[in-house]
Amino acid sequence: MSSPIYLDHHATTPVDPRVIDAIVAALHENFGNAASHHEIGARAYAAVQTARSSVAALIAADPEDVFFTSGATEANNLVLWGAAARRGERRVLITSEIEHPSVLEPAAALAADGVVVRRVLPDTAGMITVDRVDELVRDDTFLVSVMLANNEIGTINPVGDYAQLAHERGALLHSDATQAVGHVPVDVAMIDVDVLSFSAHKLYGPKGIGAIYAHRKARQRLAPRMLGGGHERGLRSGTLNVPAIVGFGIAADIARREMGETERRIAALRDLLLELLLATAGEIVVNGSLEHRLPGNLNVALPGVDAEALVVRLKDIVSFSTGAACSSAKVEPSHVLMALAGDDEHAYSSVRFGVGRSNTEEQIRAVADAVAVEVRLLRQMSSRRRR
Ligand code: PMP
Repeated sequence: MSSPIYLDHHATTPVDPRVIDAIVAALHENFGNAASHHEIGARAYAAVQTARSSVAALIAADPEDVFFTSGATEANNLVLWGAAARRGERRVLITSEIEHPSVLEPAAALAADGVVVRRVLPDTAGMITVDRVDELVRDDTFLVSVMLANNEIGTINPVGDYAQLAHERGALLHSDATQAVGHVPVDVAMIDVDVLSFSAHKLYGPKGIGAIYAHRKARQRLAPRMLGGGHERGLRSGTLNVPAIVGFGIAADIARREMGETERRIAALRDLLLELLLATAGEIVVNGSLEHRLPGNLNVALPGVDAEALVVRLKDIVSFSTGAACSSAKVEPSHVLMALAGDDEHAYSSVRFGVGRSNTEEQIRAVADAVAVEVRLLRQMSSRRRR
C-alpha cells in the first residue's frame, strides 16, 4: 500500500537523507562522551562544536550563546521556570493566548505558585500586536514570552517590536521560534530577543534535540532546571546526544543554504492549494493573516464540515490535521482558534495543512481534488441531518 501524502509538516518533518547519513556516521565514529578529556572524547566535542556553529549561524548568533536541550518543550520549560526562579521582586509574566502548551502549561503552573500571568489576546488576524503587549508590560514584569510563529495558523508575530518595551522595563524577552527557525530568516540581533527556543525535528532534523539561544546577560537570569555534571556551561546538565546534535547541525546548514529557494516553492504550493480549494470546495475561511504567515501553512475553516470526520475519511490519501497534533488527543476545540474567533463551531470545522520540502504540485492537486469531493459529501450529509 502506498503511503498517504504528507501535509503535516508543522507536527514534524521527515529527516533529510543528508542528515540521516551524518547521524549514522556519527553513531559509528563519534560514540565518545563529549565531556571526556581523552582523544575520543575530544573528537565528539569537536563534532558538537561544529554543529553548534551551524545552528548558531542559522539564527545569526554567536555559537557561545547556543545551548542544546532535548527539544523545544524542554527549552520553553527551562526559560519559564528558570526566569521565574531568578525573578527577584518582579511578579509578572506576559505571554499570549496562542502559545504552544509547552509555554502555556508551565505558565499555568507558575500562576498556581504566585506568579501573575497575563495572556495577550491575538487580534482577528491571529497576531499578537505590539499595542496589546504594551498594555500589559509593567515595571514588575520579569519575562515577556511570545511565540515567533504559531504552530496552528502559521502567523508570524512582530516579536522585534516588543523588544524595546520589554527592555525599557527590565524584562527578558523570550520567543518560542520552533516553527519559524529554518523556514523564515531569523536574526537574533535584529529581533533583539534575549532568549529563543527551537527544535531540530521541525527543520528536517531528528527528534529529541533542540536548542536555546541565550546571550550572556540573559543566561544569568535563567536558573538551570536540570542539575548534574554541569554540561552546556551549567545551563543544562546531561551527557550530550552527539549524533542527534551532529544531525541538527547538518539540518541547520541545509536550511541556511536552501531556505530562500525551498520556501518560495513551498509558498507557491500552499497558494495553489488555497486557490484550488477556493475554486472547488465551496465556502472557505482562512484562519489568520495570509500576509504575515509561514510559507507552508494553510489553516482554513470549512463551514458545515466536521473537520475530524474529514481528516479520518481522507486518512489513506493525505495526512493532515485538525488544530495542533499535540492537543489532538483531546476533543476540545483548538485554543488558538478559540482565541481568534471565540466560536467552537468554527474551530471544529477547521483544518491545518502543512506543506513541506518534498511535496509536489501533483500531490497538491490530488489533495485538493480529494478534499473537495469529501467536503461536498460531508456538507450534504450535515444538511440532510438538519432537515
Ligand atoms: N513550540 C512549538 C510552537 C511547537 O510547534 C512545538 C512542537 N509541536 C513545540 C514547541 C515543542 O517542540 P518539541 O517537540 O521539540 O518538544
